[in-house]
Amino acid sequence: MLVALLSILLTAVSMTAVFYELFKKEVMNELEAYTRVLQSTGVFDVTAAESAEGLTDWEVRISLIAADGTVLYDNDVDVGGLDNHGDRPEVSEALGDGSGQSIRRSDTLDSSAFYFAVLQEDGTVLRVAKASSSIWRIFRSALPIVAVTAVVIFLLCMLLASRATRALMAPIDSLAEHLDECDDTPVYNELVPFVRTIRKQHDDIMKNARMRQDFTANVSHELKTPLTSISGYAELIEHHMAAEKDIPRFAGEIHCSATRLLNMINDIIKLSELDVMTPAEAPMERLSLHLLAQNCVDMLQVSAEKHQVTLRFEGEPGYINGNKEMVEELLYNLCDNAIRYNNPDGNVTVAVRPRDGKVLLVVADTGIGIPKIHQERVFERFYRVDKSRSKATGGTGLGLAIVKHIVAQHGAQLELKSEPGEGTTITILFENADK
Ligand code: ADP
Repeated sequence: MLVALLSILLTAVSMTAVFYELFKKEVMNELEAYTRVLQSTGVFDVTAAESAEGLTDWEVRISLIAADGTVLYDNDVDVGGLDNHGDRPEVSEALGDGSGQSIRRSDTLDSSAFYFAVLQEDGTVLRVAKASSSIWRIFRSALPIVAVTAVVIFLLCMLLASRATRALMAPIDSLAEHLDECDDTPVYNELVPFVRTIRKQHDDIMKNARMRQDFTANVSHELKTPLTSISGYAELIEHHMAAEKDIPRFAGEIHCSATRLLNMINDIIKLSELDVMTPAEAPMERLSLHLLAQNCVDMLQVSAEKHQVTLRFEGEPGYINGNKEMVEELLYNLCDNAIRYNNPDGNVTVAVRPRDGKVLLVVADTGIGIPKIHQERVFERFYRVDKSRSKATGGTGLGLAIVKHIVAQHGAQLELKSEPGEGTTITILFENADK
């Protein structure tokens, strides 16, 4: 509406200016023709004072000026009261070049005076003047039309704008109300990418909420089992219902369940920390992946021996940008799984190698493997292929979920290859810190 208003005003102003120029030229041409006709009649010469009596009511003012500037005759004004006209631009021009013209604005601003003067053969100057509308008057006379047009356009703009806005907003409003059924909402092309993004975010939020719900339910369930067993054994001892010789075994069970509980709570805390952590809160630094992997292998040597598994490290130096704690956690979880889901006399090889300008971490075992149908799901929270084996070895079902999270935080790529009975290989491709 503002733009419309502004353009109306600008158009009015510029058109007035253009038309005024044309108008000026027309008036001047007319005046010149007029003057030339008057001159050709020969009425206005030195004797004009007598011969031109009675022209006082004319629309034009006719003056006859002597070469020295004295006004000899004027049909409008008493000659006696007029000063010397030799300095008037049109007169001095006519005296010099044969003809002259000039436009002067009158004091009222409402009209402009147009002058045309010609030098006659007898040396006098014949001047014809005419008052005409000034640019202001023309502009003012155009104003009512401009105002009416402006109002009409303004109303039209309002109508169109409100219609356009309604048309633009309708799909958005209906989307806002029924985000779930937004597949059926008719939207215009320009809105499609926006709707797609919103829909995806909405789906993500819903999925996330469902996941959290599932997670809470799972956590409660997982915590309940060891607690029930702790409570049961403790109750037996409390009521002297356990034989003296059974007490150490019961205490062992209580200890085992308590450890499981602690492990689980630790993993849950880690996961929830990873969930809320922003990149700024996880300071990244240049890490020597082979050194961290070597340390992890050294640390897990005892556990490997206990499971009769050979644990080895091989590879070359590789540097990545990462969070030390997280990468250590990742290494620990992968190696720990490779040992726990292994067979006696099995092997675990941890390797760090450069690959296509990136750094590759490989944890390969010759263990029990993961059947195809479970491979997608082992990264889900609390998902276990063999529940009893996981529990017997102190698993929480959260290790690989943590790994997946850390991999995502590091912008790395994870790949799992496994064949039941032959073994599992997990490879993670990190960006090289030196590239
Ligand atoms: P858990 O604490 O039970 O080990 P994880 O999240 O680490 O939980 O692993 C999920 C499941 O994936 C395990 O319960 C196990 O069944 C399977 N899994 C993980 N790593 C291996 C592996 N190296 N070999 C065979 N199965 C594995």
